Amino acid sequence: MKSKGQLHIQTRLVQAGIGRDEKTGAISLPIQPSATYRHPGVGESTGYDYIRSGNPTREALEELLADMEGGERGLAFASGMAALTCLFLNFSSGDHLVLSEDLYGGTYRVLDQIFSRFKLTVSYVDTTNIDNIRAAITEQTKGILIETPGNPLLGIADIRAIANLCQQHQLLFIVDNTFMTPLLQRPLEMGADVVVHSATKYFGGHNDLCAGVLVARDKQLGEDLYFLQNSTGPILSPQDSWLLVRSLKTLALRLERQCQNAQIIAEWLQKQPQIEVVYFPGLPEHPGYQLIQQQADGFGAMLSFRVNSAARARQILERIKLISFAESLGGVESLLTLPAIQTHGDIPEAERLRLGICDALLRLSVGCEDIDDLLADLQQALAD
Ligand SMILES: *Cc1c(COP(=O)(O)O)cnc(C)c1O
Repeated sequence: MKSKGQLHIQTRLVQAGIGRDEKTGAISLPIQPSATYRHPGVGESTGYDYIRSGNPTREALEELLADMEGGERGLAFASGMAALTCLFLNFSSGDHLVLSEDLYGGTYRVLDQIFSRFKLTVSYVDTTNIDNIRAAITEQTKGILIETPGNPLLGIADIRAIANLCQQHQLLFIVDNTFMTPLLQRPLEMGADVVVHSATKYFGGHNDLCAGVLVARDKQLGEDLYFLQNSTGPILSPQDSWLLVRSLKTLALRLERQCQNAQIIAEWLQKQPQIEVVYFPGLPEHPGYQLIQQQADGFGAMLSFRVNSAARARQILERIKLISFAESLGGVESLLTLPAIQTHGDIPEAERLRLGICDALLRLSVGCEDIDDLLADLQQALAD
């Protein structure tokens, strides 16, 4: 993979898998489902022994993932939550983590309802202001996890500044890069130690695959995480590994169109009388507008907006025809979500309202449809 480093990332993605099967010259990555392998002799191995420990199809994907994020080791999991769970297992009872409060609801749930039983403690802060992170660090703090842009309010945290803080305090710095992908933002190059993805989202990109990813910047952490992956077993299957490599080939194309559509929709929504606020970091009014341009090559394709009543939000969800009312994000199909009852339903109500995740807040994952069709659908759904 590294020998191809001089080629652009889009080219490396498109070419992924070619040359993996020298015998046939297959262009598509071979799927190798074998659960076990013959040994050439006693004490000898082909390098493959058992499917959980190593599989050629998953390995091709994992090398591609490491290459994309600029890390030493990529690991592919059965879901984003499996990847995050494995990462949290790298901590010990008594450790403390500081996390973005504008966070994926599932991450909140696994920490609050499961890891809390093992005495892994957490603090949620507004990570768009580094002083809040600094104030939350204790003697027991071992790691920081951020999402930037945040979810669902798209706040921007300063990756380089937080990396410096983590270095001073010797904390593991984790970035959930699901919303941006390495095509727009590469946290490892800015000092993060590990990047997480729900590959169910942009990486898969077609709402037909569930997968998760970890990429470690250095070798030792990569080996520690591999040990946890192999020991606990939440690996991605060879079939889904193949599908994810296949999907990643078009990531750059998909994302380009999605980002263009999102920018147009955000600007259009801002002009509609039924809309109170549009949260999109590509708007100059957004507080993170300058910062995101210093650390990313685009604004992404996720946006949220608050309408003038909860009834209006319900009306929009009932009227949309082209855009689907569904959770999840990142696919070629546009999806509209009501975070308060869907993705963030497990966050206690008082906490949700404090964060601004009210019943009139909608989150739009912008897809690859024709922009005129998307605007027409939104227009008829919004109308009085
Ligand atoms: C969806 C999501 C996850 C969880 O991933 P799954 O693949 O659904 O398990 C984690 N983080 C973010 C930001 C997500 O959007």
